[in-house]
Amino acid sequence: MIRVLSVLLLLGLVSGCNSLRVFFPSSSHDTTPPELPAELASPSVLVFSKTNGFRHEEAIPAGLALLDRLAAERGWSLFHTENGAVFTPELLARFDVAVWHNTSGDVLSEDQRTAFKTWLTEGGGFVGLHGAGGDPSYDWAWYVEELVGAQFIGHTMGPQFQEATAIVESRDHPATRDLPESFQHVEEWYSFDRSVRDAGFEVLVRVDESTYTPELHLLWMDTDLRMGDDHPVVWSRCLGQGRTFFSALGHQEAAYQRDEMASLLGGAIDWAAGRAGPACGASQPPSAASR
Ligand SMILES: [Zn+2]
Repeated sequence: MIRVLSVLLLLGLVSGCNSLRVFFPSSSHDTTPPELPAELASPSVLVFSKTNGFRHEEAIPAGLALLDRLAAERGWSLFHTENGAVFTPELLARFDVAVWHNTSGDVLSEDQRTAFKTWLTEGGGFVGLHGAGGDPSYDWAWYVEELVGAQFIGHTMGPQFQEATAIVESRDHPATRDLPESFQHVEEWYSFDRSVRDAGFEVLVRVDESTYTPELHLLWMDTDLRMGDDHPVVWSRCLGQGRTFFSALGHQEAAYQRDEMASLLGGAIDWAAGRAGPACGASQPPSAASR
């Protein structure tokens, strides 16, 4: 708990006008849904970037620009909203994939959570980007443990952004098919309370901790963020009949301008939409959800 509070304090200190939202996250939930386009050709991608906590002011527009370009190139229809009231059974049924793009805080009401979980496990696709799995304060066990797969415990600080070697473990997945065996990447590197490898996820990319300093140094805080040899940063798995994918990469604008990120996200969304790679079927039962 002390570690979590320290991370909250740290984020508050470094985030300027974001500080109040980190210390006092909003619990606002939307009740009036957005108006969807009359036509949403398949595959249809819902991009959701509601922030009730820390807001990645740089990453959100940069990521949206990349997703718009990928949609044009790959033939997706894309709808972006920060309105959580889109999470109803009727409206979710119009989408193949939900991209949680640097969301933060508890963004959905109980009914909206239930609608999303049902939609996902009955065949929907989830792609979570960076901050969507980087909030220490989520109060939704299924989201953290089953959908994302691990609890964020902190990110590099002092320095925050470091170049490190990302190692591609599997190139059989559509998300990593076009990536090199390893690549250099500058990132605010996340650490988690466990490796998702042991929880049934396929690790697609890990970071080599020997190539950067996985530590948090700020004022009186000195926290070791090492996970050891097994430090996943991109992973996926089937969840019921649905598909879940998470990438811890993507804090800075520059990350979304890289060919590697375009290839990763393009392949991830095609896979999450069921358009590429192995299918997820009823033969792969969901893990016991906490709630
Ligand atoms: Zn970040």
